[in-house]
Amino acid sequence: MTRLARRLTPAFSALLVSVAACRSGAPPAPDPSALDAVARRYVVLALALGRHDPNYVDAYYGPDSLKRAADAESLGVGRVRAAADSLIAVLGDTEPAYADSLVRMRHRYLRVQLGAMAARARMLGGERLGFDAEARSLYDADPPHYPDAHFDSLLARLDSLLPGAGPLAARYQRFRDRLNIPAAKVDTVFRAAIAACRARTLAHMPLPPGERFDLEYVKGTSWNAYNWYKGDYHSLIQVNLDFPVPLDRAIDLACHEGYPGHHVYNTLLEEALVRGRGWIEISIYPLFSPQSLIAEGSANYGIDMAFPAAERTAFERDSLFPLAGLDRSLAERNAAVRQVIERLNYARNEVARRYLDGALDSAGARDAMRRYWLSSPEAAAKTVRFIDTYRSYVINYNLGRDLVAAWVARVGGESEAGRWRAFRALLSAPHLPRDLR
Ligand SMILES: [Zn+2]
Repeated sequence: MTRLARRLTPAFSALLVSVAACRSGAPPAPDPSALDAVARRYVVLALALGRHDPNYVDAYYGPDSLKRAADAESLGVGRVRAAADSLIAVLGDTEPAYADSLVRMRHRYLRVQLGAMAARARMLGGERLGFDAEARSLYDADPPHYPDAHFDSLLARLDSLLPGAGPLAARYQRFRDRLNIPAAKVDTVFRAAIAACRARTLAHMPLPPGERFDLEYVKGTSWNAYNWYKGDYHSLIQVNLDFPVPLDRAIDLACHEGYPGHHVYNTLLEEALVRGRGWIEISIYPLFSPQSLIAEGSANYGIDMAFPAAERTAFERDSLFPLAGLDRSLAERNAAVRQVIERLNYARNEVARRYLDGALDSAGARDAMRRYWLSSPEAAAKTVRFIDTYRSYVINYNLGRDLVAAWVARVGGESEAGRWRAFRALLSAPHLPRDLR
């Protein structure tokens, strides 16, 4: 500890003193401002790791000086890992007794995010973790295991919803083909969906003046849509148009990427913590970190927040189907199919686990995606490319959503107002997956 303290700045040392005082039973005297020095170092280390991993830094809108510091230091992944481990040692295993519970959350957030950074650095250094160990190290969560029989029973339910001749995959594909938005109407339908999601969100939570996003259409990416947060309450939302766009995706994307999903999450964090408290660590979002479970989970559950199931079906039937020129009599059946497909999302975890742990090769993974997600060969190949890039990140969409849903129900209670209050609280503080359990 002494040698470590000598190498640290005086602010780190002050924090060490307060943590040591807690451990020795002396009256705790934690100094919240000592965390600022840890936070600045955390940002520099995250930017340094981003130099080795182009997907690591999802967003950064903090000072250019820290970017220049990371560039100048030019740390290798081994040194990033060692530096992250040193900071974790400084922070200690437990949080000091800060008077402000939000500062306590900050302390824990920094420690857990640094743990994920060290794990990602180990991976970039060539270490291979098993799927479950990786998920726990990077996302602070234990993904459930489902047997094939679980997914087979969901497929049987889908089979009953889509009667007719031929294999289920072909019947599903024929049904989906009837829901594709004509290319010329995609933008109109998306903008209508975004306007509705925004209005429904603003009815329950105020957003800072001037928040906005730009919408772009792209091709050739491994993802379907992406929110790039630029800071200053501004996002760039990109939507991939490699494949025809089914009508469901309008509400999915508008809520998930925009309102009350990623755009709102980043906006509220910037308002409450970066501007409100001067907490610089929030100005960077490392993708392979526990924050992603909160981000993806809240973005997916945000769909249910803005559009509880029956309201979504009615809005699609009465507004979006006519805008797209599609047969609105399909809306109810489509909603029932969607419910099953959403539960099948966990199948991607199982395929990713078996593929990354070596039980399936890429052809086997594509076959499994075709069986359990009823994907076309092209879509299955794209999913495997996604898994190659993002690996155990897939758990954040389904497990994240379910953890957020349970937390909002527990904290927010039965009333709509209570659930929105809980949801806003979740998006405005440095929550970790462990806080949702
Ligand atoms: Zn997302």
